[in-house]
Amino acid sequence: MRLDIKGPSALLRRLRSVMAEPLEPQTRLDTIVRDIAASVDAEVCSAYILRADGLLELYATQGLKPESVHVSVLRVGQGLVGTIAASARPLNLSEAQKHPAFAYLPETGEEIYNAFLGVPILRAGRVLGVLVVQNKTNRVYTEAEVEALETTAMVLAELIATGELEGLSSKDVTLDLSRPLQLNGIPLSDGIGLGYVILHQPRVVVTNLFNETVDDELQRLRDALLKVQVSIDVLFKSGSVASEGEHRDVLEAYRMFAHDRGWNRRMEEAIRAGLSAEAAVEKVQSDNRARMMRIPDPYLRERLNDFDDLANRLLRELMGTSLDPKDAGIEGDHIIVARSMGAAELLDYNSDRLRGLVLEEAAPTSHVVIVARALGIPVIGQLSDIVDNAENGNAIIVDSDEGIVSLRPPLDVEAAYAGKIKFRAGRQAQYAKLRDKPSISKDGVPVSLNMNAGLLMDLPQLEQSGAEGIGLYRTELQFMVSSSLPRPGEQEELYRKVLDDAGDHPVTFRTLDIGGDKVLPYLKTIHEENPALGWRAIRLSLDRPALLRPQVRALLKAAAGRRLRMMLPLVSEVSELEQVKGLIKREVEMQTRFGHEMPTCLELGCMLEVPSLLYQLDELMAAADFVSVGSNDLFQFIMASDRGNPRVAGRFSPMSKPFLRVLKSILDKGIQTGTPVHLCGEIAGRPLSAMALLGLGFRSISMSSAAIGPVKAMLLELDIGELENALHSALAATSDDTTIMELLTDFADRHGIPY
Ligand code: PEP
Ligand code: MG
Repeated sequence: MRLDIKGPSALLRRLRSVMAEPLEPQTRLDTIVRDIAASVDAEVCSAYILRADGLLELYATQGLKPESVHVSVLRVGQGLVGTIAASARPLNLSEAQKHPAFAYLPETGEEIYNAFLGVPILRAGRVLGVLVVQNKTNRVYTEAEVEALETTAMVLAELIATGELEGLSSKDVTLDLSRPLQLNGIPLSDGIGLGYVILHQPRVVVTNLFNETVDDELQRLRDALLKVQVSIDVLFKSGSVASEGEHRDVLEAYRMFAHDRGWNRRMEEAIRAGLSAEAAVEKVQSDNRARMMRIPDPYLRERLNDFDDLANRLLRELMGTSLDPKDAGIEGDHIIVARSMGAAELLDYNSDRLRGLVLEEAAPTSHVVIVARALGIPVIGQLSDIVDNAENGNAIIVDSDEGIVSLRPPLDVEAAYAGKIKFRAGRQAQYAKLRDKPSISKDGVPVSLNMNAGLLMDLPQLEQSGAEGIGLYRTELQFMVSSSLPRPGEQEELYRKVLDDAGDHPVTFRTLDIGGDKVLPYLKTIHEENPALGWRAIRLSLDRPALLRPQVRALLKAAAGRRLRMMLPLVSEVSELEQVKGLIKREVEMQTRFGHEMPTCLELGCMLEVPSLLYQLDELMAAADFVSVGSNDLFQFIMASDRGNPRVAGRFSPMSKPFLRVLKSILDKGIQTGTPVHLCGEIAGRPLSAMALLGLGFRSISMSSAAIGPVKAMLLELDIGELENALHSALAATSDDTTIMELLTDFADRHGIPY
């Protein structure tokens, strides 16, 4: 029987009703291939679906022998069908047998067919299967027919994504889209988390595939495209984009894509074939992804992300979808999956349900990682391709012990993790037992172990972890979670609560460290070519006394009648410290005049993060009540190695001679001048590097609360005097027979020190 459904839009109309009918999955698939065959005058139409084991299985056919359905399989790369799956490109042949990749499957009876057209079934650039039509004659399929078949392949992609085809084949067959994936990355924050994927920038899911009237859809597309083009042009004209540099390159690429005629034409063609405007954008986006993902050039691959962003913008414009992650509507515990992310963005999520963070980019001292650590969330970074493989709502496990992410884990893996979590809970219980033990090394040296904090919710950790105090209170975190600039009264109340909750434990407040990648959503952002070296931290505070003065005032009032410890971030010259001293002095005088009670004792410290201070150590130690080494920033500036750039962040080790010698010179000067020297960067939180710090001479370090237990376990087993001797002579030596890292691991292993 011939169905009168000629033409791609008629076919799509027909498929729409097939998709809507309450049919058995196999019947629906059979109907679809039959209708496609009829529409393009083909004697054969077959759908091969990619299974998790990498085989393409014949799921439905019109024209080939029915008994070969769910029997015939081809490997990816094998035969014409396998070649299409491997390349994600269509194959259009008038004499299929002459193609070098042709492989004959006798059970299908396909030897009598000459003409062959196959297209990949794509979703977000991933190949999910192959759709093929064949004819006996040596015909050549037209461009329009190729286009039409690609368009109909989208319907099949949708069908596969719904999970409807799962279970149609023999038992134990899993489709590739639901294939469990295990990926290795770099652990950035400890812990194990189980939950469901939330894509930080969710792919917009197109639910309306088919159009009602072509002209209306074309108009919708043109309107949306114009809006996107205009918004990019406005960005350029607003002057907020620097005249050159990477940022501008990205926008240039955006603009180029947005005005690209080929892109536009292909989307319009897809609409003419019967797709809705959004489905047309998605189809062309998916084709582009498939093509570009196979390009080895890293620059072009990066442009692919720009292109993707642009297509997503267009989709959101068409569908009016917001990017608000809270819209994801995903039940249960959440694990965020993102290419990259700012610290403030992480705080947009409901932390009660957050169990992990997976990033394609990011390095151990990226601020988003520090915030995640403060929230106690495990993080794994540098996992390429996770975003493309994950779907919102997929089950996922983040294991920072091993640096492994399991996407769509099989049940036995989930069960194994339940056991592992139990084991960890046991280990935590052991750390908890250390909580009340004095933190003294094996050879009797007392060490002050403090925690870093930044939000009120961190405070309970003070008791739970057994930390002596808060060595670094990052005041900017509260500013980052607020939707508007916290008013002075609110700040005062918050700081008072922190001091109240901390009780006898000392708290060192760091004044605002914003700028760089710590962006306040409600303050105008200024594009800077090198934000880490830019207008941030104390520089910004000094230039904007309207920010610094209320903060100082709030701290002074909150600490009325008790001790106040304050420190300044990113100081480059001692004169900056002096300026703040002047501001504090004036504030104290004014508040006293108004009759406000002031702190009983005020200590003003300085963070040592900028190498220039190394050459002003005498002046610095004379001016500051204490110094706290911010090793995250100091290391990035000493090594000229961006802490947030994964390509270089792991390249050099802080446990190396140059950096440890720098730290030692600071400690020496501290001893000489009687100035306390602390350290509050991330290296304080890893048992092995913390051990090195103690061997160097540090006696007060500050770390994430979760690190206190493991670091204390190390301390209790450590003979500091012995390590000090070994480390100091290694640092003094000019030969490099063993690296410092080897020395440390060897020392720890020989003495049974846990790390
Ligand atoms: C540092 O730079 O080491 C530091 C503690 O400050 P932050 O990580 O907040 O920049
Ligand atoms: Mg810093």
